[in-house]
Amino acid sequence: MNVRRTIPRIGRTTIGAWCFLDHYGPNLVSTGSTNEGGDVGMAVPPHPHTGLQTVSWLFEGEIEHYDSVGSHQLINPGEVNLMTAGRGIQHVEVSTPATKRLHGVQLWVALPDSARHGLPFFEHHVAPRVSVGGASVTVFVGDMLGVTAPTTVFTPLVGAEIVIPAGERIELPANPEFEYGVLVDSGDVVVNGEVVEPAHLAYAPTGAHTIVVETGDQPARVLLIGGVPFTEKLVMWWNFVGRDHDEIEAFRARWQSEVVDGGDREGDFGFVPYPTGPLPAPEMPTVRLRARG
Ligand code: MN
Repeated sequence: MNVRRTIPRIGRTTIGAWCFLDHYGPNLVSTGSTNEGGDVGMAVPPHPHTGLQTVSWLFEGEIEHYDSVGSHQLINPGEVNLMTAGRGIQHVEVSTPATKRLHGVQLWVALPDSARHGLPFFEHHVAPRVSVGGASVTVFVGDMLGVTAPTTVFTPLVGAEIVIPAGERIELPANPEFEYGVLVDSGDVVVNGEVVEPAHLAYAPTGAHTIVVETGDQPARVLLIGGVPFTEKLVMWWNFVGRDHDEIEAFRARWQSEVVDGGDREGDFGFVPYPTGPLPAPEMPTVRLRARG
């Protein structure tokens, strides 16, 4: 599948506590065979997470989620799946057979030290929608334009999808304590006076009271993410977020010994049934992982 990673990248690890943003598709999905011109969609075997929240947001398609706290949830466009890993969870995400095109984003939120050792949980919501000018804003995290998403977060954050007609200029109210990123999914878009190509991310530092988004001849879809700058140092490796190399190595060792090699269903990572079994962790790098942020 065609996946574009926009954070972390050189020079920018986080925007608020948003620490990872993968933008994928639109990909044609042809179930069963990769020889039909499309691909087989999304099928991620059981894998662990620690110290983060995953946010799944779709523009097109349908995904089925299973996890080790017993959740089983379909997600469609306009709905948000939020999984809070805390000290550890595992999950599976697969696109459904009905999905012909898959297009969306996978985001991670770093949990602050005060929340990252807690028990895991999962939630699913329909995201509230509001209009500004001719644009439609769907808020999946935090609050904006008078609507509040019911998703649980542990630091001040916002996340919204904005669909804008051609030839429009919208002013989005900004919290001056927040930094923001605007990911352009499609369209001719100018953010705060600068052209931003599709699949690129514009950045706005703290201090702004508005973010101005203008469209040209094409309608646009953008994703707005923002939050109070996250000041805790992070080590991110594979599916784990921690604070230092040794902690990441311990998460990996626990996943391998308890789940991949041990078949322990009672450990922190729990159990999710899946035909191929859990995903083994890659080998640790030979150099020590260093904190960023
Ligand atoms: Mn995952």
